[in-house]
Amino acid sequence: MKYILLLVLGLLLVYWILKSYRRRVQRPGAPPPATGSEDMVRCEHCGVHLPRSESLTTQGRFYCTLEHRREHKNV
Ligand SMILES: [Zn+2]
Repeated sequence: MKYILLLVLGLLLVYWILKSYRRRVQRPGAPPPATGSEDMVRCEHCGVHLPRSESLTTQGRFYCTLEHRREHKNV
């Protein structure tokens, strides 16, 4: 019984190593996820910094959420 458990654990280990290895070599030279390399902008309302692609832009101003854009206009 102990032997079977060890065998299963060994197979799982091999499977896990192969999986992580394949994921690593899948896209050689591919740029890492865009975090850090992207332009950061500042929400005009609360001042939080966020990637430009996640921000809302209105007349050259950036906002983190629709709510903040709306609230800032009302002020
Ligand atoms: Zn905000």
